[in-house]
Amino acid sequence: MKTKDVEKVVAPQRPHYVGDGFRVHNFIPGIPGMDMQRMDPFIMLDYNSKFHFPPSARPKGVGVHPHRGFETVTIAYKGRIEHGDSSGGGGVIGEGDVQWMTAGAGILHKEFHETNFSKEGGEFQMVQLWVNLPAKDKMTMPKYQGLLKDSIPSHQLENGMGSVEVIAGEYNGVKGGASTFSPLHMYNLKLKAGGNATLSFPAHYNSLLLVIEGRIKVNDQDVVSTDHLALFKNEGEHFSVQAEEDAVVLVLGGEPLNESIAAHGPFVMNTRQEIMQAMEDYNLGKFGYLEG
Ligand code: MN
Repeated sequence: MKTKDVEKVVAPQRPHYVGDGFRVHNFIPGIPGMDMQRMDPFIMLDYNSKFHFPPSARPKGVGVHPHRGFETVTIAYKGRIEHGDSSGGGGVIGEGDVQWMTAGAGILHKEFHETNFSKEGGEFQMVQLWVNLPAKDKMTMPKYQGLLKDSIPSHQLENGMGSVEVIAGEYNGVKGGASTFSPLHMYNLKLKAGGNATLSFPAHYNSLLLVIEGRIKVNDQDVVSTDHLALFKNEGEHFSVQAEEDAVVLVLGGEPLNESIAAHGPFVMNTRQEIMQAMEDYNLGKFGYLEG
């Protein structure tokens, strides 16, 4: 078995706002060499690095908008997000929680800072990922998987040096909290300074890690600092992560779907025609109704 080497370490780009509540650095598909096809099935990664929002009487966020053809995964590291959707679902994503929403055939939703968080203001840090759906599942029924912090399965590393929280996929026999439509792994790796972990994904999986807190060294070679991302080569399987400081690292590895991608704003399908259909269905109100 061969080492999976780092292809490149990527610094966060200049942030932009999604609505007025999410100050994000886009990594996928915005970074050259990390487009939807390259990172398939991870087709979008927005990262709100730690940012202090001042108190606001009106919750900041993003109003009603549609999605079709993929899943959105929201990981809250700091602060709280309130959401609502056209199927009547809604709730709060608290610190440490993960929300896995399957947009499938179509959903309308809105995402805002939670009311009390908004009133008080505070540190906000989150990741939103879009995970593509295989062609055969793009029109599946919308659904949510809400993973509360304490329910996320985790593997404890030796000598109390940390843990691997398994959001999806599997680590060392521990199965993830979320079910997925294609094979992928998603972990929050938490290490104390000096701790290390060995991970392994098949060579052809598109793989990366994002340092949420602290500083790490990958394969005793590549230093990756807070808010930086390491993209792995599609060769080799094993890689090691050593914490130079207490660290939290989001780790992703997924088998490419290898299907054509047609993307337009909030719709990600396989063909242009399906995108036109999505826009038509949306305009005809087929995604349901949600008050703004
Ligand atoms: Mn959305």
